[in-house]
Amino acid sequence: MSVQPTTPARPSYKPQTSFPIRTEASGELIRYVEDDDQIAVLRSAVTLARRLFFSPLSKMIVVKLLGVEGGPVGEHDPTPHPVRLQDLPMDISIAQDVDRFQHEAQVKVVVDTTIRGYAKTNSTEPLILRINSDLVVPAGKAWRSGNTAEVNMTLLNLSCVMCHELMHLVRMQRFAATHDTPPSVSDGLRYREDVDDNGDNIVYGEGGWLWEVEYFGGALGATVFPRDHFCYKYDNQIHYVFAERPTPETTWFKVPYNQIRAVVEGFSGWQQNVPFTPTAPLNHGRNSAPRLRISSLSTTMHAYDGPGTKARVEQSDSTLDSDTVRCAYRGHAAETSKVSIVKIGRDGEILARHPI
Ligand SMILES: [Zn+2]
Repeated sequence: MSVQPTTPARPSYKPQTSFPIRTEASGELIRYVEDDDQIAVLRSAVTLARRLFFSPLSKMIVVKLLGVEGGPVGEHDPTPHPVRLQDLPMDISIAQDVDRFQHEAQVKVVVDTTIRGYAKTNSTEPLILRINSDLVVPAGKAWRSGNTAEVNMTLLNLSCVMCHELMHLVRMQRFAATHDTPPSVSDGLRYREDVDDNGDNIVYGEGGWLWEVEYFGGALGATVFPRDHFCYKYDNQIHYVFAERPTPETTWFKVPYNQIRAVVEGFSGWQQNVPFTPTAPLNHGRNSAPRLRISSLSTTMHAYDGPGTKARVEQSDSTLDSDTVRCAYRGHAAETSKVSIVKIGRDGEILARHPI
């Protein structure tokens, strides 16, 4: 009789590192992740995320977005037109709340091996920022490489993810985790979908993506080297960072490295480099290269391995608790497979497929 090898159950998350987000604090390291490289790159990313998120431009964006009001709309109702930042007032009481969050909130960054998205926040744990270990593992390798460009792009990518989640967390703090994002706070492409008490599908906004568009000039993504590329050294090694603009039509541009370096290394006048600006004509459509972060068309769209392979349902609605903010999904498709975005129904069937 043969004995099947058993795989021990993985813990829900790796031993974690706690990084207070306070700008004055250097950050207290409580426990370790996998190795010193991951610790170091996470610590640097948190420092960068603090500098970006609490910079004057970002705080102006955050305060204005938090002042927008409005409840969810039905999935078949027209979604409100996305807000325009220049039309929004600055509310002093909101600014004070954001200042308080900056100086007092003790946000823990948890490296999570179980979440399917690249990161997650949840209103039941409004000071926890979960980040997918799939992002942290290559980041540690980039750090170890000592290659300046590799490290800088990695830090920008990680800190962007953290800032995106901080946008959710600061809203949870201000509204005591009871107030969801109004639908007009979105980039016009990505919304959060949920189910109301009557079982009807409803649509909320998504402030994290809008923050990225307003602050960086586009939602950021990082393409990765395929294994057969002569520059490939390890899985999910970043090739370049791009910014995607959803409106008025979807376009993207490669973020010029000199702008990335100025921001990440904090050169004198670094803040003048954001929002990032393209130095070449915009590319139309979506960037179809293999990447670390997939910007899904909506929160119920999921990555899918192409025809002939088993559908990989990242998460279906029925498995998610209603408080979870779902931001988008990282693709796990094989490099050779054709990747599509599919819409998943409640019982897991594929309702629609969109090539990307
Ligand atoms: Zn989000």
